[in-house]
Amino acid sequence: MQVFTTPKLKHVEITSDFWKRYRELVVKEVLPYQWQVMNDEADIAIAEDPQNNGQDKNSHAVANLKIAAGKMKGHHYGFPFQDTDVYKWLEAAAYSFSYHPNKDLKKITDELVDLIAEAQDDDGYLSTYFQIDAPERKFKRLQQSHELYTMGHYIEAGVAYYQETGNQKALDIATRMADCIDRNFGLDDGKISGYDGHPEIELALARLYEVTHTKKYLELAHYFLNQRGQDPAFFEKQIKADGETPDRDLIPGMRAFKREYYLAAQPIKDQKVPHGHAVRVVYLCTGMAYVARYTHDQTLLDACDRFWNDLVKRQMYVTGNIGQTTTGEAVTYDYDLPNDTDYGETCASVGMSFFARQMLSIRAKGEYADVLEKELFNGALSGMALDGKHFFYVNPLEADPAASKGNPGKSHVLTHRADWFGCACCPANLARLITSVDQYLYTVTEDNTILSHQFISNDAQFDDGIEINQSNGFPWNGDIHYEIKNPNGQTFKLGLRIPSWSADFGLEVNSKAATQPVKDGFIYFDITEKSTTIDLSLDMRVKFMRANNRASADFGKVAVQRGPIVYAAEQADNPAPLWTYEVDTKTKPSSAYEDKLLNGVEVVKVNADQVQLDSDDGPLYTEESDQSTQSTELTLVPYYAWANRENGQMRVWLNK
Ligand SMILES: [Zn+2]
Repeated sequence: MQVFTTPKLKHVEITSDFWKRYRELVVKEVLPYQWQVMNDEADIAIAEDPQNNGQDKNSHAVANLKIAAGKMKGHHYGFPFQDTDVYKWLEAAAYSFSYHPNKDLKKITDELVDLIAEAQDDDGYLSTYFQIDAPERKFKRLQQSHELYTMGHYIEAGVAYYQETGNQKALDIATRMADCIDRNFGLDDGKISGYDGHPEIELALARLYEVTHTKKYLELAHYFLNQRGQDPAFFEKQIKADGETPDRDLIPGMRAFKREYYLAAQPIKDQKVPHGHAVRVVYLCTGMAYVARYTHDQTLLDACDRFWNDLVKRQMYVTGNIGQTTTGEAVTYDYDLPNDTDYGETCASVGMSFFARQMLSIRAKGEYADVLEKELFNGALSGMALDGKHFFYVNPLEADPAASKGNPGKSHVLTHRADWFGCACCPANLARLITSVDQYLYTVTEDNTILSHQFISNDAQFDDGIEINQSNGFPWNGDIHYEIKNPNGQTFKLGLRIPSWSADFGLEVNSKAATQPVKDGFIYFDITEKSTTIDLSLDMRVKFMRANNRASADFGKVAVQRGPIVYAAEQADNPAPLWTYEVDTKTKPSSAYEDKLLNGVEVVKVNADQVQLDSDDGPLYTEESDQSTQSTELTLVPYYAWANRENGQMRVWLNK
């Protein structure tokens, strides 16, 4: 008897209206706009906060590469990691070719790959700041230099570009880069026994290993993870040797952060919870999970579990945002979830999606897919305006233009999306997630199982003619229809996710009512027939959510969720101030789809009392007594779509 091995995923075409719009928006608006910005051809205003770092209207990111390639004269401009804007953009463009072939764009990206190849040093090194203005300081100040972070982003782009277009040169740049890093880093005599201040190279090398099957890249990634924190004084020693005066710092203020901030105070295997810069945390976690999957290193996997549990169960906002403080763009401590000063960097939500995807590849657990969905529909997506030309770096859960203007401690909280940022890490990071979202819908496991864990309509083709077509009106409608075609009568398991927000669900198999036990967030079917249909009805009731009552900021408040979508109240729909509303959680909320609003959204209405505002010249404090209230209705829109109308207040957590 022939044993059928696990069906290989060949192609996924997204048919979801919701995601098709975003993916076309990236092609039509985001990519051209960002290309103009990176070439200094766009008339943009750079947000003063966060991380402006004295930037003016220029990005200079492409110019830096031209100077390094000897095609232009001048100095490097921008952050030491300015190159990464270009690489993330290239990666986003590469994925877009899989659903929107575009000759004009392809010409630009091919030429960009040529330029990058010319900018690369003969030994494979590529970080334009150091090549142009500080060649003697290469790899000498890794706490701040972002050199491996920068090259890691190229490696990701190069792998993606090679996979999508077959461009060998793009992959060769990446392998030459990895070889350069391999020659310079490690425990052998003469090598640097250190690592980069910003994780990224680990996950990038794992991706390079996946495509090249060259073991040394996986071993190098493993080395970086194992070596981290082995010598907690590594960065300080380098700084001492490179020069301790402030003018030697590559990014002002970076030296003040402690070892914990860089996840370098102790070996990862000994770290109980994540510390420091949120994006570093999630990139490190992604690298750990990636490498653990291939090396079966249990200590790395244990660290993934510890960090996952702490982030998801004690430090994640209801929207999926991560990073509670602007000070160092960092995570803080368990259950500290302030809503009006939080950071919630778009990149951290994008990175959390990477981490969740890797964990799903290790274990078939619905909670990983739940978090991935939460990021895709909330925390990550809120990083971009509906026009594709304005972006959030910081994603608050409560905002007030007066507070952002008047309180320096809240000045990082923008109440409208910016044209661009001095540190422009977020826009292209989100773009590459959106253009590759087709790669996030299925996980095929070695035990002959296909997991379908996201409800994004699609047609997926596997080998031996197997097809899975999923159609739905998600995220507004919870009726999910599957058609599974298995023309050669193969045998495999199909796992469908039951989201944590839908404990109740209806199920029909071949139009007959059925039941299936839920195991770790999935229901399973043995597929043997040539054709099978499955209909899943998810619970799309509007729900009032509360936070764990250890989270002081949310105590006594409710957030509104429908399906995976978290809702927000905006001043555009509700007379301010929004803190004067008290939601009636006893009355059932209503919801209706409005196709003209915010590109089409399900709008939720909840009953509320609004307390009458005290007079402006009244006393600041009076003895407590009943205040007069007016019965009203609060209108809520999806969180991802806030700040697309007039500038005003917003809040996710509502008084009750
Ligand atoms: Zn960012």
